[in-house]
Amino acid sequence: MNKPLKQHLIDPEICIRCYTCEMTCPVEAITHDDSNVVIDAAKCDFCLDCIPVCPTGSIDEWRFVAKPYSLDDQFGWAELPAQGEIVAAGGDDAEGGDDLQAAMEALLAEAHKGAGGKAKAPATAAKPSVNLYNLGKPAVAKVQGNFRLTSDESGSDVRHIILDFGSQHFPVLEGQSIGIIPPGTDANGKPHLPRLYSVSSPRDGERRNYNNLSLTVKREDKGVCSNYVCDLKLGDEVQVTGPFGATFLMPDDPSARLLMICTGTGSAPFRGFTMRRQRAAAGTSGDMVMFFGARTPDSLPYFGPLNKVPERLLKKHLVFSRIPGVDKEYVQDRMMVEQEAIADMLADPRTHIYICGLKGMEQGVEHAFKNIAESTGMPWEATRDVMRDEGRYHVETY
Ligand code: NAP
Repeated sequence: MNKPLKQHLIDPEICIRCYTCEMTCPVEAITHDDSNVVIDAAKCDFCLDCIPVCPTGSIDEWRFVAKPYSLDDQFGWAELPAQGEIVAAGGDDAEGGDDLQAAMEALLAEAHKGAGGKAKAPATAAKPSVNLYNLGKPAVAKVQGNFRLTSDESGSDVRHIILDFGSQHFPVLEGQSIGIIPPGTDANGKPHLPRLYSVSSPRDGERRNYNNLSLTVKREDKGVCSNYVCDLKLGDEVQVTGPFGATFLMPDDPSARLLMICTGTGSAPFRGFTMRRQRAAAGTSGDMVMFFGARTPDSLPYFGPLNKVPERLLKKHLVFSRIPGVDKEYVQDRMMVEQEAIADMLADPRTHIYICGLKGMEQGVEHAFKNIAESTGMPWEATRDVMRDEGRYHVETY
């Protein structure tokens, strides 16, 4: 009997089309069409390099199959097929199902080590719409606003961009992202791939009940898309893909407690979360606590408006790493200062954790959580894994 094959796949419902896996794969096994990002079974050598770079865990999917799904099969998927009964090539039922199960579990355990586990949406999150517009059929949005959020002196140019979708149906939930396709071609003459930005407004619009949304975009030196976006003028038309993201969402349960940790423009989704609660659950919502790191106050996006959000709705810990004459402080340092409050949240099954921003902060934040949890006798990894499985632990770092 021929052995069934294990095939590495991407969940098209959760994938946010950031193409990081495609850029990372050393054997060029990952490719995309207008709609999906897919893996060529003939090329994938299971090196797993793509696993830790995936911000959503959507690449952490495996199936045992008699015959691998082709690229065309995968391009056509709106959702991942379930693991079917394992039938060996040649048509016989697979023997040694227990061995296969064990092999599958070992493989998953290895993969989860890199990605930290597969993300899940909060149990009470609204159902997101995903992938309504793609490379072949993007939405066209009009620029309704482009405001600089940071001072000239800060050396950082972060913009609040408002995009209006007119009569096009473009529903988003807080925490979702959209792709912006910069005009022109890359060094190989190919059209640019879309770049992903988190939506920073709530689901009912940047302006309430308007079909618009906002983004928070930092100009990067030589950044193709960030310079394009930061230079947009009122009335310019922009090609947009998405919306993307089915897990980094907020619970609709107003009593859920939100612990949000971010650096720089990683604060974008938390602006959306905060505005949602201000609009929809004012006065009745559970705690929201934010740890937000920036170099200086004038490079912290939304510093002024954020300070106006009442502490009873949002407890803010704004920390700065480059104030002259003041010790550098990172979010994980302040978490240690606030360890009692965090331990209280960790012990509460209503708590949801969100981490967004620089990839580099993940390790420090993880370390802080481990110290805090273990100082109260909670095993951190087990606590975190339960939270993730319950859709209460979310990481989106680039
Ligand atoms: P940044 O200005 O470079 O950094 C923000 C703060 O984080 C600075 O104070 C920085 O300190 C500090 N920091 C650096 N390394 C750290 C570490 N290991 N642990 C904790 N703090 C650390 O941030 P940014 O350029 O805005 O970058 C934000 C990130 O969020 C980007 O990677 C972006 O891709 C990502 N993101 C953006 C969006 C969006 O919608 N725009 C959404 C999701 C994620 P020092 O520089 O002084 O060391």
